[in-house]
Amino acid sequence: MTTNAHKLELTKEEMRTLGYKAIDELVEHFDTQNSKLPVAEGSREDMDKLFLEDAPEEPTDAMSVLNFVVDKVMSNSNIVSHPKSYSFVPGPSNYVSTIADTLATGFNVFSGGWVASPAAAELEIVTINWLLKLFGFPSKRGGGIFTSGGSMANLTAIVTARRIKCGEDFSKAVLYLSDQAHSSNIKAITILGFRRDQIRIIPTDLEFKMSLNKLQNAIAKDRLQGLQPFCIVASSGTTNTGTVDPLLELSKICKKEKLWFHIDGAYGGAAILAKNGKQLLKGIDKADSLTVDPHKWFYQPYEMGCLLVRNSKWLKHTFTEKPEYLKDVEGNDSEINFYDHGVQLTRRFRALKLYMSVKTFGLKAFRKAIDYNLKLAEQTEAILRKSSKWEVVSPATLAVINFRYNSIKLNLNEEELDELNQKISEKIMASREALLVTTILQNQIVLRMCLINPRTTLEDVKGTINLCEKFAEDILKNA
Ligand SMILES: *Cc1c(COP(=O)(O)O)cnc(C)c1O
Repeated sequence: MTTNAHKLELTKEEMRTLGYKAIDELVEHFDTQNSKLPVAEGSREDMDKLFLEDAPEEPTDAMSVLNFVVDKVMSNSNIVSHPKSYSFVPGPSNYVSTIADTLATGFNVFSGGWVASPAAAELEIVTINWLLKLFGFPSKRGGGIFTSGGSMANLTAIVTARRIKCGEDFSKAVLYLSDQAHSSNIKAITILGFRRDQIRIIPTDLEFKMSLNKLQNAIAKDRLQGLQPFCIVASSGTTNTGTVDPLLELSKICKKEKLWFHIDGAYGGAAILAKNGKQLLKGIDKADSLTVDPHKWFYQPYEMGCLLVRNSKWLKHTFTEKPEYLKDVEGNDSEINFYDHGVQLTRRFRALKLYMSVKTFGLKAFRKAIDYNLKLAEQTEAILRKSSKWEVVSPATLAVINFRYNSIKLNLNEEELDELNQKISEKIMASREALLVTTILQNQIVLRMCLINPRTTLEDVKGTINLCEKFAEDILKNA
């Protein structure tokens, strides 16, 4: 094989054979993933043993490289699309978008400027418009951009907010976010060169919502000290508990105080597609900028984040640079060069997967899936509440629920409960049967389920809870 290896080419026949094999492996994975174990294990030593080598000067048969990769690489990665993958934020994904990504890569579409690929730019405009409409953003003036993920969308938002509100001098600028805000926001703020003392972490109340009183106190104090409050970062669906900050009240504070209102909806934004979710997200349309993360609950494969803004000019004014080698490709004003709206110049064609999957399944299918996820979490809550062994620590909210083993018969103290629940998670992970780890809420170690996979059944959840109970009893017996 590899007749034209010096041009990095395969023959047509070799390309077909390799491609068909890859598709066969993908289809097999989609078909059988539910019955695999979701948790991978492997130390650095194990992985070194499998993969560590010098870059080979000589060729290897393409098929045997592919087989090795399927066998050793893919099998040693967590299956985040598995029905019992409950932790962090799962990635349910879908096959149509998988093929879309494959096409985007295969045709190697440059999704930076209009002239390079008018159709790719147009599809990004079209799909961004779908999202603008869903979230009630101004459809004419509004805009946005697809990014690698929520982290990059938050970074894009905060640099835009700073540019619009502070201009060049941000030495006195201050921004506000809650103690439940996602860490990517702090990361973005520090990347942008703010000092730690320009960040106000506002405590949350007992329901994990940003305290409005404490926020207003902080803003007032900062003004008295001659500082420049400029931005509030709210969460619409915290990653920990799915909690939505009081968006309407926060939007009023932003308006009164002339602050930028950024909402991080990377986790929960997609709930807008369901009736109940939309109710919970009331006020999300008041944001100046909104992060959503299609590679989470819009069921897209990695990587795809998105930033929406009320006015697309804000992005353009923040990110446009005019190097001489790009002057021939400017295009007219309606033809968007997405490299002028964000960080990346060369960009992969992310819009295609959202476009193809929504066209194929219809938005209704997405609505149903999200509605199902919301209900599944509520049913899970009901099961836990009925049991004398479990305590619900934060109720089902946007498909997230936190709970701990706390049998009423045992009367364990806080320290013992922490230890027990930590051990339950360790046993579950060691069994590889479910991806279920702990988080910390109000100083308690709790188990957290994020139920955004439409293929997760109530039976899956019950099975996992039963397994947790069995492990709990084992641990208590051996204590
Ligand atoms: C996941 C998440 C992010 C970060 O998004 P990435 O896609 O992982 O970069 C930001 N905010 C929230 C609320 C999230 O859940």
